[in-house]
Amino acid sequence: MASLLTEPPVFSPEAWDWRVEALCRQRDPSIFFHPDGERGRARRRRQQEAKRVCAECPVMLRCREHSLAFQEPFGVWGGLTEEERSQLLPARAVNLRTHRAHTPS
Ligand code: SF4
Repeated sequence: MASLLTEPPVFSPEAWDWRVEALCRQRDPSIFFHPDGERGRARRRRQQEAKRVCAECPVMLRCREHSLAFQEPFGVWGGLTEEERSQLLPARAVNLRTHRAHTPS
């Protein structure tokens, strides 16, 4: 996952093969995506239910990589909520800038 911010994501049909094994295909999609206006306890409860499914999913890491690479804006992907993904991406960008500043060219 270290190269996600240095190279643009590549979109190809093969890159989506992992979805065939996605556990969420057998579940109600409304667990993974919030309805309009959802907040507070209801939102946390739904997200925890989605995360429990993700924790059992055989392609969880590929899904997570995808969601970060393509910066999926909505829903629980790879066990991460949209809020958790948005917190990770700026931190990764900062780490990358720090790494570049200290890497001899
Ligand atoms: S990790 Fe979660 S969102 Fe991703 S494919 Fe698996 S069940 Fe679906």
